[in-house]
This record gives sequence, C-alpha cells and structure tokens, in this order.
Amino acid sequence: MNRLKFVKQMPFTSLHDNIKLEVGLWRADQNQCELAGKTNCDDSGLYYGTLDQREPKFCARHFYQEVISCEGTGVYKLVDEK
Ligand SMILES: [Zn+2]
Repeated sequence: MNRLKFVKQMPFTSLHDNIKLEVGLWRADQNQCELAGKTNCDDSGLYYGTLDQREPKFCARHFYQEVISCEGTGVYKLVDEK
C-alpha cells in the first residue's frame, strides 16, 4: 500500500505567471516524484506539491531544482504571503 499522507502546508507559495499555488509537504513509502529516473531523487520519503493530493508531487531535489528553477529559466518563484 502506498498512500500519500499530508504532512503540512508550507509557509510560502509558488508563483507562476501571477498564479499562486499553496505548497504542501507530503509523505509516502514509495517514490512519488514525477521526475523519478531522470536524476536521483531525494529518498527521504518527503514530497512537495500543491495541497491537492491528485496533483503531481516532486521530491525535494526535483521540486527545487527542476520545478521552481524550471531548469534555469526562473519561471516559478517561491514567495511569502505575509
Ligand atoms: Zn525526484
């Protein structure tokens, strides 16, 4: 059984083309990273995504390296609400 378990909402949001998405931290027994296999994943069992369980999840490495940095194009940003 491999179920995503919600851990917490992070104290920042992701900003992409003026669309803000809340960032959630998730835990799972098996790798849930959408970019698994491209390069090695963070194997801590923690995953980042939105607060919606059905949306893609990424390990810490790929969330920050590939999703947020968009492989260097800098399209996504992490911003504070307050
Ligand atoms: Zn990964």
